[in-house]
Amino acid sequence: MNFLGLRTLNDTMNRFEQELAAALAELEGRSLLRHLRNVDSAQGARVLIGGRSMLMLCSNNYLGLAGHPRLRDAARHALERYGVGAGASRLIAGSLDPLSRLERRLARFQGTEAALVFGSGYLANLGTITALAGKGDVVLGDELNHASLIDGCRLSRAEVRVFRHRDCGHLQVLLEQSRQARRRLIVTDAVFSMDGDCARLAEMVELKHRFDAVLMVDEAHAIGVLGPGGAGLAADLDLGQEVDVRIGTLSKALGSYGAYAAGSHMLAEFLINRARSFIYTTGLAPALAAAAEQALAILEEEPERRRLLLDNAEYLRDKLGRAGFRIAPTQTPIIPVMLGDERQALAMAAALFERGVYVTAIRPPTVPPGTARLRVTPTAEHTHADLDEVLTAFVESGRELRLIG
Ligand SMILES: *Cc1c(COP(=O)(O)O)cnc(C)c1O
Repeated sequence: MNFLGLRTLNDTMNRFEQELAAALAELEGRSLLRHLRNVDSAQGARVLIGGRSMLMLCSNNYLGLAGHPRLRDAARHALERYGVGAGASRLIAGSLDPLSRLERRLARFQGTEAALVFGSGYLANLGTITALAGKGDVVLGDELNHASLIDGCRLSRAEVRVFRHRDCGHLQVLLEQSRQARRRLIVTDAVFSMDGDCARLAEMVELKHRFDAVLMVDEAHAIGVLGPGGAGLAADLDLGQEVDVRIGTLSKALGSYGAYAAGSHMLAEFLINRARSFIYTTGLAPALAAAAEQALAILEEEPERRRLLLDNAEYLRDKLGRAGFRIAPTQTPIIPVMLGDERQALAMAAALFERGVYVTAIRPPTVPPGTARLRVTPTAEHTHADLDEVLTAFVESGRELRLIG
């Protein structure tokens, strides 16, 4: 389909539509236009797209749980007993039991006093930051933080200071400059979502203590992946008790939807009273909570899933690197294949798609200008044969586009 053709200005459009069409045409001219792609199966190592079985290498379904029979069963049972929707905000219509159960299990999983479930990671970050920081406070965030953290900072009305990526020297300077603040809140991704590298949590904890600041860590890509039992990066570094607020999603390795903030009883109670994205939105659907609880059980019973995931990532990262692609060396399942130019990233994704491999081109504003990439993420369910197929497709496509020799 010719999308530019569709958006060519014509006089059947009213002024509003013409303005939108012009903005979209401008995006397309810069190779920044995005489209939805229809998928006709559950998420998994392979998905069905347009009647074709495609190798899926761009989901966050790290452990292959999104389509797992036990999650489906748990969701089905909760659906039978509790119905579909939660009815209203949990503060208004009551808190359905699967959510309370999940929260107890999450607190045990994170080794915290409490956990509070939100509708999504985006909502958890928005609500938590705006509850914890306001006028007179300073929020300090890594420049590559996830958009939901950035939006939370913007919405908080606190002063926002951005430090260079993983640069704790810079963070220290900014902390020194904000001594006048009522509260200083340090906010970071644990695993950076588009780069796969990890925050320097040990240094951040040290700075947090030195400057009497509060530390909030978004473990979205670390939960189910890193640390003992998949409890995340802070747990991996034995810093769980030093981090004041940990955010985790139920939507990535845990294969469901929703998210949580984990910390003290006081934190949970405060968020129940102050986090607007908790108060003014309907509770998470009970079937999703039940599925997430089941995912935590599988995580505990089948630790080999995490090993398979990390082995697969290492296997693919190593082979892509040897084939001549520019790969950042990380310890997580996120493998960024750096291409720089948006058109090249799109061309590479299209060439891979023709060869049966689904990887989306990641472009600005998701990543900084000039750093377009393919973000490749294997799951625990891919076999080495699958990954060899992926590799062949990469090598053929890379040669066709003269990206590798
Ligand atoms: C995906 C992601 C989120 C958002 O989580 P959802 O549950 O998908 O809304 C938040 N933070 C980070 C770092 C993420 O990668």
